[in-house]
Amino acid sequence: MMGKKLVLVGGGHAHMVTLARLHTFLEKGHRVTVIGPSPFHYYSGMGPGMLGNTYRPDDIRFRTQHVVEKQGGTFILGKVKSIEPEEKQVRLESGDAISYDVVSFNSGSYVPRLNLTEDAADVFSAKPIERLMEAQKRILDLAPKKKITVGILGGGPSSAEIAGNIWQLVRNQGLKTASIKIFTGRKLMSRFPERVSRKVEASLTARGIEIVTNGYVKKIKTGQVELESGQTYTLDFIFLAMGVRPNPMFKNSGLPTGPDGGLLVNKNLQCAEYPEMFGGGDCIYFHSQPLDKVGVYAVRQNPVLYHNLMAALEGGPFQAFDPGGNYLLIFNMGGGKGILKKRWLLFGGRPAFFIKDYIDKKFMKKFQAIE
Ligand SMILES: Cc1cc2nc3c(=O)[nH]c(=O)nc-3n(C[C@H](O)[C@H](O)[C@H](O)COP(=O)(O)OP(=O)(O)OC[C@H]3O[C@@H](n4cnc5c(N)ncnc54)[C@H](O)[C@@H]3O)c2cc1C
Repeated sequence: MMGKKLVLVGGGHAHMVTLARLHTFLEKGHRVTVIGPSPFHYYSGMGPGMLGNTYRPDDIRFRTQHVVEKQGGTFILGKVKSIEPEEKQVRLESGDAISYDVVSFNSGSYVPRLNLTEDAADVFSAKPIERLMEAQKRILDLAPKKKITVGILGGGPSSAEIAGNIWQLVRNQGLKTASIKIFTGRKLMSRFPERVSRKVEASLTARGIEIVTNGYVKKIKTGQVELESGQTYTLDFIFLAMGVRPNPMFKNSGLPTGPDGGLLVNKNLQCAEYPEMFGGGDCIYFHSQPLDKVGVYAVRQNPVLYHNLMAALEGGPFQAFDPGGNYLLIFNMGGGKGILKKRWLLFGGRPAFFIKDYIDKKFMKKFQAIE
């Protein structure tokens, strides 16, 4: 029997099991191609910790290209720009077309750049995580020379984690304290229960981090943000952490999408209109129940995605994805402290960070072992 072509777009959190077991597809005679813009995949849960210098880049990344090639798969360094579903091919930014029999998307999400020009300097987005590496370098260049000013746009967990870890970075280097402001528009952590937002806010303000709630940012340029009211702030570094969106490639390619532009998938993580198309993580819109854009769901989707890709190639019944119940959230607030929330349980301090650090390192170890 002639093997089929499996293409994985992005080696994100939902493809970890499939990547670890890539050899099982090859053993059955199929060809596997993985496309990604970097030879590495960064574990976002530890991204702010890397910014704060708790972890080194090596601690938080998987060698995707190496893992693929070691098992006999093909790795293409590139970015998918569009999908041509009738021709069963994906088109890369380079113009090359890669054909598939079965394709799976785990290409994540990005932070919209508002009306920012491409040449704006010292503006960093929360994703891709590689940007946080560049930010750390720039901060460490400037902070010994002056008291740096940092503005973080957005009021969710990644904003809070970035603020707390910049505070840690500067403090641990024995540098002049930084002036850090979070521009959250109205309210910090507004998607969360009141007691969670109060706890996060208390942790930040205790370190002198200012939370600006008098209106949204209207304009950004190098070194400056302007609020709707016209008030301006001068900043050395600007971070964009206003929430993420799936890559527009699905919508632009005319595929079925959810309201956020994510690839619309059914309970089998499969596109109903093109059953040879699957996906997981932040880039999909799960039809049965919209999912929060958190790594937890991507991680839970792993075994189902692996099973269903194999079933699509080999025949056999599909598995349905069960998002599961309430999930554990732990924010890394910097300074060795965290805030843990699960259902009614909420606590902060060192034990919360200790648990996060333990879980995150365990996850990394499990998948780095394949390397
Ligand atoms: C700062 C920060 C901290 C976070 N902390 C947590 C946390 O502690 N816990 C939690 O549950 N969630 C956390 N999240 C949310 C979490 O990051 C996402 O939900 C998670 O990354 C989704 O995983 P993913 O695999 O879908 O996407 P990603 O992790 O973004 O992976 C996508 C992959 O696809 C590749 N790719 C992108 N575009 C293309 C393309 N066009 N073609 C080919 N490949 C492409 C990328 O290089 C990347 O390797 C955090 C987010 C941020 C920004």
